[in-house]
Amino acid sequence: MTLGRARVVVAFTLLGTGCLTGKLPHVGRDAPREHVLRTGPFVFTTDFELARRDPLVDDLLGLRQAIHETLFLPEGNGLVRIVVFDSQQGYDEFVRTNFPELPSRRAFFVQQAQGEMVVIAAQGDRLRGDLRHEATHALLHRSMMSVPLWLDEGFAEYFEAGPEGLNSRHVARLDVDAQRGWKPDLRRLERMRDLWQMNASDYRESWLWVHFASCQSSQTRRELLTYVTNLAHGEPDSLADRLERVDPHYVEACLAHLDDLAGNLANKTLPEEGENYHVGSSIPILPAGDVIRSFLPRRPSLVGTDSASPDR
Ligand SMILES: [Zn+2]
Repeated sequence: MTLGRARVVVAFTLLGTGCLTGKLPHVGRDAPREHVLRTGPFVFTTDFELARRDPLVDDLLGLRQAIHETLFLPEGNGLVRIVVFDSQQGYDEFVRTNFPELPSRRAFFVQQAQGEMVVIAAQGDRLRGDLRHEATHALLHRSMMSVPLWLDEGFAEYFEAGPEGLNSRHVARLDVDAQRGWKPDLRRLERMRDLWQMNASDYRESWLWVHFASCQSSQTRRELLTYVTNLAHGEPDSLADRLERVDPHYVEACLAHLDDLAGNLANKTLPEEGENYHVGSSIPILPAGDVIRSFLPRRPSLVGTDSASPDR
C-alpha cells in the first residue's frame, strides 16, 4: 500500500539540462509525458488529458497566489513540474523501479540539482491535498534560499488545508495531547536537521506554530513574515526568539490558541487510525513521510545533495 508523501532532494546525474528537457529516470516505465500543459510556473505532464481550467490546475494556481500574497515572497525562478500518473499501479511501478530506496508513499517532491522542482503523484481520492502539500514545498524552495525543516512542513500542512490553513484533525489530536500535558516546543523543532527525526506529532506541531504565528496578533504575524523574509535571503533566524520577544509566555499563548481552535471545533472526534496525513498509519519506521538523503548514495544514478536545503 502506498502511504503518505515524501520530499526528496536529489541530483539526477543522468539528466539533461533545463527544466523541460530534463528527464526523470525511467527504468522500465517512463514518467507521464503524453499530455503537457504549462500554466504559470507549473508544467503538468500527465497520463491523461488535463483541461487548462481543470480544478486541479486552478487549485495549484490559487495556491501559488495564496503563498506569495500571504508570505510576500518573490516569484522565484524555474518551473515546477507536476507529474500525475493515471493509476496507482503505474505510479507504484515507476517509483519502485526508479526510486527503489524510497519507502512507499502516495506522492513525492523531488528537487533536482539543477533547480527543477518535480512533484510526482497519482490519481486518487487524496490527489488534491497531496498536490497542494508537495507543491507548497516546491514553491517555497523556489523562492527561498533556506527553508528550515519544521517551517517547510508547517507551511505545507497549513496551505494543504486551504486558504484558512485550519486542519481540524491536527487540532483534535493536538488538543488531546495538550490535555495529557504535552507542551509545544518550537526551539526543539528549530533544532531538527534530519527528516528522520520528524514524526507525525512534529508535523502537527509545526502546523500549529505556523497557524499560531499567523493568527495570534499582528505582531506575531509580522515576526513570522520577517523570519520568512530573512530565510528567503539566506539569513539565519529563529522564530522562537522572535515570538519570545513579543511575549515571554508565547508557549502558553500557543496552547491557549490551540484551546480556542479546539473549542470552535464542532466535532472533536479523533481521526481514524491511518488517516493521518504523512504517516503511513502505524508504520513507525517512517516517521513523517519525508525522506531522505541517506538512501540516495546507494543508487549510482542519484547523488544526494544538500545544495537546495542548506539548513539540513
Ligand atoms: Zn511534506
